[in-house]
Amino acid sequence: MSGLHWSLSERKIDLKIFGQVISRISDAKKLIICGHIMPDGDCVSSVLSLSIGLQRWGKDARPAIDWPIPHEFDGFPFVETIDSFCEDMVSPDLIVAVDSSSADRLGRFSSFLGEGVPSVVIDHHATNSLFGDTNLVDTSFSSTAQMVLRLLRFMEIEYDQDLALLNYLGIATDTGFFRYSGVDETVFRDAAELVKMGADPAFVAMQILERNRIEDLYLKRDAISNLELCHSGLVAFSYLNEGAFKKYGVKEDEFSGFVNELRAIDSVEIAVFASESKEGIAHVSMRSKTFFDVSFVAKAFGGGGHKNAAGFTMSYGGNLREALEEILSFIGNVLREAQPDNPS
Ligand code: AMP
Ligand code: MN
Ligand code: MN
Repeated sequence: MSGLHWSLSERKIDLKIFGQVISRISDAKKLIICGHIMPDGDCVSSVLSLSIGLQRWGKDARPAIDWPIPHEFDGFPFVETIDSFCEDMVSPDLIVAVDSSSADRLGRFSSFLGEGVPSVVIDHHATNSLFGDTNLVDTSFSSTAQMVLRLLRFMEIEYDQDLALLNYLGIATDTGFFRYSGVDETVFRDAAELVKMGADPAFVAMQILERNRIEDLYLKRDAISNLELCHSGLVAFSYLNEGAFKKYGVKEDEFSGFVNELRAIDSVEIAVFASESKEGIAHVSMRSKTFFDVSFVAKAFGGGGHKNAAGFTMSYGGNLREALEEILSFIGNVLREAQPDNPS
């Protein structure tokens, strides 16, 4: 393919599936491009880049996320076009689910799948349940946004500064700004291609990393006071109750970075952070540094994710600190199995 410095085979992308995705998209006029609930940077980036790209290809492609968009994405172009209902598109020709490992992650938009609307899944989660009619799922990509870039470039869709910026957002955020394992040469090359087309890395870093509100710090103070270590310092965990979020007027999904700080403690391999959204319901975010597969734990509790970043939502009676015990002891058992020679 002329003008491209990479080839699809470099990534072992299944060309047959790639062709099927493009043909399903070509055949459709009205498309819903849907991301997951509790959206992160990769989700917002993939939804918007694919929608804007396909709009430029003449499609009625609607960006859709069944969740309020967190404030850190306010400064990005077209964010206001993300629709959480798509009420005027009652019978789309195709639903494209991005960055979502299972149908329930689409919130209300999962009902289209039940109604028999054709579907395409584009994702990089190891726990993906392959819930689409066509599934472009490749865990070797460190972001869905990188897969979207390759798809749009393969379709020879023109990039301007806005599209490049939006597409760069997901690559930067899902790699922890180029720090996580899985960051290989292709990530830098694809990011560089987007920078060349007008993406501004400093703008993205500023919007995502440097716009904390003072309330975020107050919440962090509360979360630190709930912080504990267990399993010989290998596990750090903390939690915040609904009341804390209410007190500072911060939504629980806007406090998602703290779990990474727990992981950054020197002795820690596994970090667990639980945020209560309403009484008896909490989202549990988990991170690991190297060997421990947190997606295994997340799956056991009904969620999913990647080896080093995973999550799930749990319902519980009693208090959140007690509810965490079950997860911590499950992790303890997996740790013991992973270290059979450890006498403790
Ligand atoms: P989080 O801890 O919410 O930042 O999520 C970390 C990773 O796990 C992301 O890739 C999420 O898409 C995935 N994840 C989080 N919660 C769930 C869930 N309930 N079901 C499936 N995947 C999840
Ligand atoms: Mn995501
Ligand atoms: Mn992702």
